[in-house]
Amino acid sequence: MGLSGGRARLVLCLLEGSLRIVLDVHGKQTEFPQYELKPGEFLGEVPLLLGTPTFGSLRAQTSCRIARLDKQQFHHLIRDSKEARTMILETLGERLLLIQQRSLSLPTSRVLIFGRNRNEDCHNIREFLSANRIPYEWVDRDVYPDRLPGGLSDDPDCPGVSVDGQLFSEPPTMREIADALQLQTKPNHGSYDVVVVGAGPAGMAAGVYGSSEGLRVLIVERCAAGGQAGTSSRIENYLGFPEGISGEDLTGRGFKQATRFGAEVALTRSVEKITPSSEGYVCEFDGGQSVSARAVVLATGVDWRRLQAKGEDRLLGHGVFYGAARQEATNVVGKKVFIVGGGNSAGQAAMFLSSYAAEVKVLVRGEGLKLSMSQYLIDQIASKANIKVLPHTQVISVEGENFLEQIETRIQAPHEAEKILGHEADALFVMIGADASTSWLPDDLERDPRGYICTGRDLTTWKLDRHPFPLETSLPGVFAAGDVRHNSIKRVSSGVGEGSMAIAFIHQYLAI
Ligand SMILES: Cc1cc2nc3c(=O)[nH]c(=O)nc-3n(C[C@H](O)[C@H](O)[C@H](O)COP(=O)(O)OP(=O)(O)OC[C@H]3O[C@@H](n4cnc5c(N)ncnc54)[C@H](O)[C@@H]3O)c2cc1C
Repeated sequence: MGLSGGRARLVLCLLEGSLRIVLDVHGKQTEFPQYELKPGEFLGEVPLLLGTPTFGSLRAQTSCRIARLDKQQFHHLIRDSKEARTMILETLGERLLLIQQRSLSLPTSRVLIFGRNRNEDCHNIREFLSANRIPYEWVDRDVYPDRLPGGLSDDPDCPGVSVDGQLFSEPPTMREIADALQLQTKPNHGSYDVVVVGAGPAGMAAGVYGSSEGLRVLIVERCAAGGQAGTSSRIENYLGFPEGISGEDLTGRGFKQATRFGAEVALTRSVEKITPSSEGYVCEFDGGQSVSARAVVLATGVDWRRLQAKGEDRLLGHGVFYGAARQEATNVVGKKVFIVGGGNSAGQAAMFLSSYAAEVKVLVRGEGLKLSMSQYLIDQIASKANIKVLPHTQVISVEGENFLEQIETRIQAPHEAEKILGHEADALFVMIGADASTSWLPDDLERDPRGYICTGRDLTTWKLDRHPFPLETSLPGVFAAGDVRHNSIKRVSSGVGEGSMAIAFIHQYLAI
């Protein structure tokens, strides 16, 4: 019942039946039998009177009759009835006490990782949990060797992981962790109206609009809901958030919204093949499972372009990273950090990491940031004493025995002799643009020479008598939205817009 998330505008008073309070405990919906509402009791007064977000939702135990009071009616009641006022304020006091007790009794996280800071498995698990907004406790065994929880491996190179009390002595796969966290990793049905591939802003918007308009929607996501936007430390240009919003927060809300309307989101699954069938298309996942769909939305975004520097493959995940995940913040405290790239994502990463690292150097091939970065970020960077921009600079090699220790750069300023310089480096974050990974799609789905998917009026191959819908690919009924689409704008707002529009065109397509 609608008390969860956001700010409540209603007080619910139970007239008949029984309701139980359900709280979100680190992403897990947990029923609290001790908080049961009986006839005559009410809920919703704390957020409404104190203007705080709601802290739980209600689940009916039996059929119920409920009176709903909006803010104005509730304030009238408090003002006009001394008896009601006394009862409401007393209940408010008791509830605040309960909230206090609950805060003290809640676990601080659902996952414990005991391992080494520079271990790749630890890095991958922490990245996966952060991307999925699951709080975890990280214990560095080199700093706290005595804190090994019973039942976990004491092999220093094998991280010990415990999820909701379930112990893994071998490093678990991301899907095993997701299953242990009770995240959805498999479709619940064999056929859907729409299968959306990718849960970035475009895919989640398609999920929200599709499911809210009565379509049965499955979103399939190979890693974590949020896509690139989920890794952004602060999105400042998305409508409705004048102070900016972290990508994590924005995409977390999108995920909740899509699932609340009934869209299924299967995480840690890749769609590997799409083939036409009598019902529309069959989408095959990694591991062999498949579902059928009347229509498909491809919202697979883009993947980071590789640096092509010597030594990069060996040190990937060991000091060399693509993108700048937020969990790296604690690992770069007081360290020397390099960021390669001059776009907005590199600018945001520089700003974010500069609050932790001793120094952040931004390496760009051109003469500065003007041509590639938004002015608001250039201004923010200029105001930070520990960020330096190094122009005309390319990374040619990365070195280190087990972890990054040094990078070598080539400086080629116009009309000057080439210089090769070595720099001590603790971490290198690469953000030099991205490419569409669409080679797994059928050959007859038209792409441009860089792999981006052509749609609507950009198509040069089209077999049917009717015109293709905007966003429809050369395969009728398969639509593309967001960054993966040829000529797309590559912003959160345009991805959200296209994901929503794709659903409008799918309604028209299904009605043919
Ligand atoms: C660090 C950073 C900061 C940014 N900041 C801003 C900003 O401030 N403002 C702004 O407007 N834009 C910003 N952007 C750009 C914005 O995030 C993207 O334009 C937007 O996320 C694109 O959305 P999308 O849904 O098209 O693709 P993506 O966000 O790339 O999502 C695609 C999803 O598809 C999944 N996927 C791919 N292939 C498969 C498959 N075969 N099966 C299953 N899943 C698959 C991926 O794992 C991914 O989660 C930023 C980008 C980055 C990287």
